[in-house]
Amino acid sequence: MSSGIKVVKFGGSSLADAEHFRKVADIINSDPERRFVVASAPGKRNSDDEKVTDMLYKCYDLTRNGESIDNIFLCIKRRYDKIIKDLKMDFSLDNEFSKIKLAILHHAGRDYIASRGEYLNAIVLSKYLGYDFIDAEKGIFFCEDGSFDAENTNKTLSAILEKHKNAVIPGFYGSMPNGTIKTFTRGGSDFTGSVVARAARADIYENWTDVSGVLMADPRYVKNPRAIDVITYKELRELSYMGASVLHDEAIFPVRVAGIPINIRNTNRPADKGTMIVQNAPANKNSDIITGIAGKKGFSIIVLEKDMMNNEIGFGKKVLEVLMNNNVSFEHLPSGIDAMSIIVSTDEIKDKKLIVADEIKKYVHPDYISIDDGIALIAVVGRNMVNGIGTAYRVFKAAAESGVNIKMIDQGSGEMNIIIGVKEEDYEKVLQAIYSEFVH
Ligand code: ASP
Repeated sequence: MSSGIKVVKFGGSSLADAEHFRKVADIINSDPERRFVVASAPGKRNSDDEKVTDMLYKCYDLTRNGESIDNIFLCIKRRYDKIIKDLKMDFSLDNEFSKIKLAILHHAGRDYIASRGEYLNAIVLSKYLGYDFIDAEKGIFFCEDGSFDAENTNKTLSAILEKHKNAVIPGFYGSMPNGTIKTFTRGGSDFTGSVVARAARADIYENWTDVSGVLMADPRYVKNPRAIDVITYKELRELSYMGASVLHDEAIFPVRVAGIPINIRNTNRPADKGTMIVQNAPANKNSDIITGIAGKKGFSIIVLEKDMMNNEIGFGKKVLEVLMNNNVSFEHLPSGIDAMSIIVSTDEIKDKKLIVADEIKKYVHPDYISIDDGIALIAVVGRNMVNGIGTAYRVFKAAAESGVNIKMIDQGSGEMNIIIGVKEEDYEKVLQAIYSEFVH
């Protein structure tokens, strides 16, 4: 049943200056169902600019080092003052700033300081829209161990939202059981938006940013990649894990349990439909075979060979135990009859190569072992792959035709992704080749 409520979250670039505030207000006012708004702190206005959150973290570092925050604090204050003045609003945040400065000088916590970016921006936006302001500390809670307290939050926040027709809620933070402020990890306003959407029982969670949806490939490597129309939560997880950065990693979970779709939209092009992120999308023969491509550099490959490896019970277990004992997690584990390769993050293994190799030799006596860095992984993701024959072939054809040697292949068990490992220097070339093979 429809609730007639949309929760909308605006990212830092959408609230970086007065011009963007106006666009945001137009978007909100054009649809009365957009009742609850989650705001980020002002982001960058251009590539040389600094995010308010970053400046706040600097304030914390400066006070810790016993240095003055006067200059940077003034820059932060001026950013808000300018937004207020350019919007021709008649109010001042002077009192808030005095309180915050005092708190910083009295060694307020790092999270409290960082959270003030969204706190202040949400106040400005609420006044501009004529909406109520709900402080996130009143309805978003963490447990004693610092993990997010989903159920307590949902209950309390639902009750709070019911009392408001329209409201703005600052993103990024909540409160600990002792009342102190704690933030989510960076980009956490996406998560707040999702939490609010669940608590409001919204029909949709609109996440407004500066791109027209989730792109099929990274625009730094592929020219003008298309935006994805519909993507499932699972596909998005695969793509984000492999480096596609659209939403905060955990932002899908609160709405997912509530069955609420997310719509990624572009504040600067509100007529674009953006990307719908949904629980299930029917596999469609007429749509693209692949949904998106993403990838990451910085992996190492451990190659092990041993005659008759396939007969040796416990071989894999012992090798993985060595990794576990050295605190190295593995990403992929493609194996052959007498060979096994393990992909791990270079960062995790770099200082432990000798000891890992020694222990593996000691426990499983391989005929050959090597650990090489410089591997990039590329994930080709698509729910429609199950129906398509020859998808893997086309991935390999694209790599071969661009002269790239594939070092590793792994097909996820759900037949939703094919992952290949290539040398880092081949990364861009093969990404472009795969994109052109599948997207026209
Ligand atoms: N302002 C915070 C950050 O820069 C949170 C957010 O924008 O989502 O990480």
